[in-house]
Amino acid sequence: MDEPTLYKLSAAGRPSAALPECDVEESELPSCLMRNTIGLPQLSEPQVARHYMRLSQRNYGVDTGLYPLGSCTMKYNPKASEIWARLPGFSLIHPLQDPESVQGALALMFDLQQRLEEIAGFARVALQPAAGAQGELTALLMIRAYNRWRGEGQRDVVLVPDSAHGTNPASVTMAGYIAVEVPSDERGDVDLEAVKAACDDRLAGIMLTNPNTLGLFEERISELVELVHECGGLVYGDGANLNALTGITKPGDFGIDLMHFNLHKTFATPHGGGGPGSGPVGVSAALAPFLPSPVVDRYQAAVGEHPIYVLVSPEHSIGRMVAFHGNFGMFVRAWAYLCRLGAEGLREAAMHAVLNANYLRVELSEDYNIPFDRTCMHEFVCEGTPKGTSIRALDVAKRLMDYGFHPPTNYFPLIVKEALMIEPTETEDKATLDSFVRAMRQIANEARADPRDLRDAPHWTPVRRLDEVKAARDLIVSEET
Ligand SMILES: *Cc1c(COP(=O)(O)O)cnc(C)c1O
Repeated sequence: MDEPTLYKLSAAGRPSAALPECDVEESELPSCLMRNTIGLPQLSEPQVARHYMRLSQRNYGVDTGLYPLGSCTMKYNPKASEIWARLPGFSLIHPLQDPESVQGALALMFDLQQRLEEIAGFARVALQPAAGAQGELTALLMIRAYNRWRGEGQRDVVLVPDSAHGTNPASVTMAGYIAVEVPSDERGDVDLEAVKAACDDRLAGIMLTNPNTLGLFEERISELVELVHECGGLVYGDGANLNALTGITKPGDFGIDLMHFNLHKTFATPHGGGGPGSGPVGVSAALAPFLPSPVVDRYQAAVGEHPIYVLVSPEHSIGRMVAFHGNFGMFVRAWAYLCRLGAEGLREAAMHAVLNANYLRVELSEDYNIPFDRTCMHEFVCEGTPKGTSIRALDVAKRLMDYGFHPPTNYFPLIVKEALMIEPTETEDKATLDSFVRAMRQIANEARADPRDLRDAPHWTPVRRLDEVKAARDLIVSEET
């Protein structure tokens, strides 16, 4: 962009703030902490305000428009949750405070643990992990500790379906396990024969995403779980897709032994650039003693007495996963969301998420091939090459930006060629979905008529098509260059 940078606007001696005269005695800082100049641009306050406002207007987020990024559940983040999180009793406390002085915060954490246990059917939940991926690692470390404790430390293999999110095999490797890929069958489910073949006394477990990343509910989930359990393995649930299930079915009920939640997906806390993640883990009773430490517990000396909340360490805890207790501000937001929706609201949210995805799946199937075309859950995957063309998913994704939409996830899952993974979430209305369908149809028409506009899209965004690898690796964070 040729708009002037702050450094070019800078003029020597232009102050941005007029500080009152110092009325206390000046003290000398150690010289090692002092610099003569740090070379900041010199600008007036309005210039700085306008600069940052301009930058903010270039952002695209869930507050700007549809964000159908499959697997990420980019639903609207209610502003009421922000108000709750900013209450001074939550936002101004410190993790090293005496638990007696933060009973309200601990009560909220305890209640959130309980709500998550109830929603997903687990005996215990620990809130600590700072993201879904860290929840995966936490769970795998728990599986290892549990197996060692019961004298089955030789179990060193974890199965990962070929449709899994990339964090799954990465977490397996980080936890010191051997990741073994299992294929999907022709219906998009995990191939049971392949699982059966891997069931022996080296199997520590399987990482299962259900609904899987094709947006499909594993049709033979009970058989699958039974197979793994019969040979002494554990079933880990990747809970990123829980948004399709809340209030309808519980992973704990269909045999999942442990699972991570993504508060920033399912429970509407800000996501990506908007805020830190939070990936609590839920476990069955057998695994509860291995949870990370500390977890919040509640004691009641006698009936009618005020309960007391304490931080406790489970008996065989794997220890800490983060410095303190996790991303507390996200606990408040998720808790606020759960309180406002209630059980019935959560169920409705899941049903609308599934309805919206199926609506888009059917509307788009005329122009885009859908390889595993059956009723989907909260998302679906189509081939991003419009029928009868050789346009790539990347071109469609880039062109969508010209039409004012954030592109869907592309090239994932790996088992669909030119994949576009579309997840509208329940917070979009029919008019928005229809305008997305119109844009996707228009792009398919362009691809058939004259694909040139597609091949070098986007045309109307602040920057054109980037070398994405270079842009991510070679980040220019200073305007001065
Ligand atoms: C998002 C996601 C993860 C990882 O969660 P983060 O919170 O981003 O670390 C894992 N699995 C699936 C299927 C996901 O969509």
